[in-house]
Amino acid sequence: MPAADPYVPGHGNRRFAVRTYDLALDYKIATNHLSGRAVLEIEAADTLDQVALDLYGLSVSRVRVDGRQARYTHRERKLRIALATKAKAGTRLRLEVEYAGKPRPMPSVFGPVGWEELTDGVLVAAQPCGAPSWFPCNDRPDDKAGYRFAVTVADGYRVVANGVLEGRAKRAGRTTWQFRQDEPMAPYLAVLHIGRYVGTQAGARVELVHPRGIAVGAGTAFARQADMVEVFDELFGPYPFERYTAVIAADVLEIPLEAQTLSTFGVNHVAPDWENERLVAHELAHQWFGNSLTAATWADIWLHEGFACYSEWLWSEASGRRSAAEWAAEHHRRLALLPQDLVLGAPGRELMFDDRVYKRGALTLHALRGVLGEAFFPMLRDWTTANRWSTVTTPAFVAHARRYTDADVAGLINAWVYGAALPPLG
Ligand SMILES: [Zn+2]
Repeated sequence: MPAADPYVPGHGNRRFAVRTYDLALDYKIATNHLSGRAVLEIEAADTLDQVALDLYGLSVSRVRVDGRQARYTHRERKLRIALATKAKAGTRLRLEVEYAGKPRPMPSVFGPVGWEELTDGVLVAAQPCGAPSWFPCNDRPDDKAGYRFAVTVADGYRVVANGVLEGRAKRAGRTTWQFRQDEPMAPYLAVLHIGRYVGTQAGARVELVHPRGIAVGAGTAFARQADMVEVFDELFGPYPFERYTAVIAADVLEIPLEAQTLSTFGVNHVAPDWENERLVAHELAHQWFGNSLTAATWADIWLHEGFACYSEWLWSEASGRRSAAEWAAEHHRRLALLPQDLVLGAPGRELMFDDRVYKRGALTLHALRGVLGEAFFPMLRDWTTANRWSTVTTPAFVAHARRYTDADVAGLINAWVYGAALPPLG
């Protein structure tokens, strides 16, 4: 069966789409034992006699299709569920999977991704292909669905998942935390955090979740996070979700990572220097670029990282530091000294997270801003509004931007995105 996306071979399936995931998970922290029940409402895109889901390293004990016990095989990373009768395109099916085991990160060409045990808790960092380490899914970025989570852990721990906390129920020393994520979400953006955390509100929509005893307010890299939301609201259009949470784990993390409605940082990202603050701005900007508007294929990751990197420069300017133009000039000089063998719109999976994708992507936007002038931010706001909670491609972005000028936008973006040589900056 062909891969849904050549950058993540073996993941995802194009013959069906998931409408909703309903995950009930019971987790024992001391033994890293997870038992789960996943209910997926799917819709066939083709005639199906089986449904192949991605699930890694956990044991399946029972599968039902529309309430009836179903046969299945689970080898390596694929759970294949046999359908008793063929399903035609457009048919909706309800899949119920019961599974358990000790979740672990999924090995991939990007290194281990997904479920990760912390010193005293758990986080999920699933970009780009770690979702199957904790729930059965159709692991492709363009198959977005609604999610519900009910996660049961021992009292004393706090759970954070995507979306809105709907309720908490305590029973016999354990608490079930219920979250609801209605805006469609790609599987790699689904996350779970479990830790001995407390919450600090930072404005009406923004919360910081962090270990007790670690200050995250004034005098830290997170001090102005609520201001960042306001600045980006203005520049990119309304924040696309109800709430935003920054989770700061007690452990040191190499890099922060975005997820839908929340971002993950390490305790090493709290100190109030520019390097940390730009990461806080970067992860927040992914709520618009990456999470609400998700690249349909990983080859277009510059539509996430280029935009998030440019957002760092915009925050720098908005907060009275160096202007975006100064950052652009500096990074153009730096990129000119590096090998020009990377094609931004097709970096290949080995270079998908190369820093040149980030910087050249940001420079592409700055060059486009030079051409569009005052129409640049209205163009961006219309882009996020027209494609909200959806998937996007580079050709769609070119077609969109062309409507705001008579200049040769297609030529400019082609040189920056599909050429290897670094174009001059404006
Ligand atoms: Zn990023």
